[in-house]
Amino acid sequence: MYDIKALYEAESVAHAVQLLLEHPEAQIIAGGSDVLVQMREGKRAGKELVSIYGLDEIRGVSLEEDGTIRIGSLTSFSHITKDPIIQAHINVLGQAVDQVGGPQIRNIGTIGGNTCNGVTSADSASTLFAWDAIIEITGPEGVRRTPIQNFYIKAGQVDLRPGELQTGILIPKASYEGYEGHYIKYAMRNAMDIATTGCSVNVKLSADKSTMEDVRIAYGVAGPIPMRAVTAEAYAKGKPTTQAEIKAFARTVLEDINPRDSWRAAKDFRQHIAVVLAERALTESIRLAGGVIHE
Ligand SMILES: Cc1cc2nc3c(=O)[nH]c(=O)nc-3n(C[C@H](O)[C@H](O)[C@H](O)COP(=O)(O)OP(=O)(O)OC[C@H]3O[C@@H](n4cnc5c(N)ncnc54)[C@H](O)[C@@H]3O)c2cc1C
Repeated sequence: MYDIKALYEAESVAHAVQLLLEHPEAQIIAGGSDVLVQMREGKRAGKELVSIYGLDEIRGVSLEEDGTIRIGSLTSFSHITKDPIIQAHINVLGQAVDQVGGPQIRNIGTIGGNTCNGVTSADSASTLFAWDAIIEITGPEGVRRTPIQNFYIKAGQVDLRPGELQTGILIPKASYEGYEGHYIKYAMRNAMDIATTGCSVNVKLSADKSTMEDVRIAYGVAGPIPMRAVTAEAYAKGKPTTQAEIKAFARTVLEDINPRDSWRAAKDFRQHIAVVLAERALTESIRLAGGVIHE
C-alpha cells in the first residue's frame, strides 16, 4: 500500500541534517498527513523518507526572553489551539488551525508540515503571514531565519536547501503586542474541506479606539501562494473605524489579490468572497480590540 524504499528515523535535529545530506533524494516526513496520502496515490512511490516526528526538541510553544513566541515546527494543530501562550497573545492562530480537516488530522498534522508543503490553502499560512512570522531553518551551515513572505517561493516550493529542515516559527513581540485578529475560512463544507479562500486580519487601534493605527491582512487561495494585501493595508492606516472605511478597505484588496478559476470556484466568485471576508474579518478584529464601528 505504501511503496517506501527506506525510512530513516532522526534522533536529533543535527542527526536529521546528517541523514538528509547522506540521502539527498530522501523526503522529510513529520506527521505524514500529506506525505503518506501522496505516497498511497503513487505520487512519491519508491521514495526514501527521513522521519523527524520523534524530535521533541522542536515540538511545543514557548515565550522567549524578548517576548518572541516560538512555535516548534513539529507542534500539532490541536496543541496550538489549546496552548495558553497562543491563547493569550495570538489566539487567532489557534482558531485558524482548529479549522484544519478533522480531529485526527489536527492531532497528527504539524504546523511545520502545513507551511513546508508550499500550498496556498494551508490554514495556518495566511494567519502566519498576517503576524509577520519568521521561519527558522536548520541545516549544514547552522540556523538561518527568513520572513515567511520569502520562505514561499512558488506553488508547492519553499526555501529549503539541501540538508535543511524547518525547526521553528517565530512571532516577534512587536508583531503581536497591541493587535487583535480574526481568521475566516470560506469552504464548501464546514469540516474536512480545504479553503476556497481564507482571510486573516490583524488590527491595532489608537488609544481612544477610534482609529486604525495598523491593519495587516493576508489571504490563502488568492494567488499561487499565501499573500498579503498591501495596498489595502496602506489604505487602512490612520483611517477611522467607520463602516464606510471598512468597506472601502475591503474593496481595495482587489488591487492586490490574483485568484484563479478552478473546479472549486471561479475567479470572480473568489474575488467577491475575498472582499466580503476582508470586511467581516476586519469588523470582528476591531470588535475584539475593543473598538466601536460608527456609521
Ligand atoms: C483528510 C485531510 C484533510 C486535510 N484538511 C486540511 C485543511 O482543512 N487545511 C489544511 O491546511 N490542511 C489540510 N490537510 C493537509 C495536512 O493535514 C496539513 O498540510 C498538515 O499540516 C501537514 O503536516 P504533517 O506534519 O502531516 O506533514 P507531512 O505530511 O509529514 O509533510 C508535509 C510536507 O512538508 C515537509 N515537511 C514536514 N515537516 C517539515 C519540516 N519540519 N521541515 C521541512 N520540511 C518538512 C514534508 O517533506 C512534506 O513535503 C488535510 C489532510 C488530510 C489528509
